[in-house]
This record gives sequence, C-alpha cells and structure tokens, in this order.
Amino acid sequence: MLKLVDIIEDDLNKLFLYETEDGYTIEGVFYRGNTLCISSQVGCPIGCVFCASGSKGFFRNLNTNELLMQYKLAQKILRGKITNIAIAGIGEPLLNFENVKNALTIFKNDNLKVTISTTAYPLKNFEKLFELNHNGVTISFHAGLQKTRKKIIPISEDLEKIKSILIKKLLPLSSRQRKKYQLGYLLIDSLNDDKENLKAFAEFASSLKLQVQLMMLNKVEGKPYKPVSEEKYIEIFKFLKSYGLIVTLSNRYRINKLGGCGTLCVNRWKNQVQ
Ligand code: SF4
Repeated sequence: MLKLVDIIEDDLNKLFLYETEDGYTIEGVFYRGNTLCISSQVGCPIGCVFCASGSKGFFRNLNTNELLMQYKLAQKILRGKITNIAIAGIGEPLLNFENVKNALTIFKNDNLKVTISTTAYPLKNFEKLFELNHNGVTISFHAGLQKTRKKIIPISEDLEKIKSILIKKLLPLSSRQRKKYQLGYLLIDSLNDDKENLKAFAEFASSLKLQVQLMMLNKVEGKPYKPVSEEKYIEIFKFLKSYGLIVTLSNRYRINKLGGCGTLCVNRWKNQVQ
C-alpha cells in the first residue's frame, strides 16, 4: 500500500509525496490542470547527470498497485481532474516493464490518456513498447552523437541501435500513427548544445519526420550543469525548425522549480536507507 503523506503546491504545480510500506518516499506531480506525472521506480539506476531522481541511487521497482495508487490518491484530492497520466517521474519505465504495462492497461480501461518517457533502455523492452496501447512516447536522445549521449545518460544503449529500432518500427506507420512518438532533447550548456550534436540529431529526426521536444534544463542542487541562455535556446529552436521539424519548447509547468522535469526525487526529507 502507498500512503499520501504530503502535498506541496505553488501557482502552477502540485507535488504529491507518497510513502511506500517499506519506508521510502516517492513523488508525482500534477500540472497543466489535467495531468499527473507518476514515478515508476524508487530511485533510478540510469543516473542521467542532470537529474535528481537517480542521484540517491536505485532501491527497487514500484509494483502495479503502487503505480495505480499514485493516481488514485491524487485523483481523490483533485476530485476527478486527472485525465492524463505521464509515466515520466522517478525511474526508467522500461526497467519496470511488466508493472508499467499492467498499470497502463488499467489506466486505459479507466479512460485515461497515458504517455511514457524513456531513454530506450533496455533495448529488448524498448522494442516491446511499440506494441502497447499508449497515447504517446517521448524518447530521450539529449544528443546527436553517441559519445556525448553517453556522458549525459551513463547507463544507456547505443544511439545507432536505438535509431535502427525507431526506423524499423516507425517507418511502416502512417504519419498520424507516427505522431505518437517524439524525440526529447534537453539542452545543457557546453555539453550538448554544439552544432555537431544538433545537426546529427536534426538529420535523424527529420528523416523520420518526428516531432521534437526541446527542453530547458532545471537546475538541480549540487549538480554543476547549467541551462543554456534564452538566446541560445531560441537560436537552437530556429536551427531545428530549419530542418522542417515540429519543435515544442518547455512550457512553464516543466521549467517550474516545483515538480519541473528532472527535479523529482526519492526520500526528499529523509536521510535514510541508502
Ligand atoms: S531522467 Fe529519467 S532515466 Fe534519467 S535519471 Fe532521471 S528518472 Fe532516471
């Protein structure tokens, strides 16, 4: 069983803190007036360098009931406002594939729209993702070159292999079906904001006509990484647009200090079980 232990809110987002039976706290965030972003794991073994979710390590997968309870507990407080679930909080959903798949089926039976965010690790589960009845998947690239991506996502699959799977799975789809898939690129100052990475990324995205989510970095305490400047952000946006890509920018909910992308964490106020 999962317990709701606290809610912190500001003008934009509501952060839900849940406690597991074995004493960990995990988090979900309600944003845009209709979407709950939920966690799939207690901690994260992927360890993306910019992200708070994996910075205390990885403890365990969440079971199906714990995935569902994040929604049920929040929905009760929010009196039915949740219509969309984003499995994009703490954890890599593909590393907890069976529980995520079970929860997705139940959410869909409840008429919720469900999207998933993933680094495509591990590849064997990434392949299976295309068979699920989801409403959208964002694949985190964060680089155009493998050597750069490896610096940002230390536990990751080879970019060329991910691209091959995307080509194999998406090329046969109609452009309407393909719209459910987009590539994520989170910009980090002086790490992945160079032309070489962006050009390689844009060429691949445009070859499959995939939409791009261009994300601003949220600063996480204790991490040395910096967001790019506003000017650079717009310059890169225009650069990607010049390839004919549809590019969305981080909205105000995602760059919000409370509950923005990459800021959810395990055991927020606890000094415990490491
Ligand atoms: S961005 Fe996602 S996959 Fe990467 S460390 Fe954070 S939670 Fe894990």
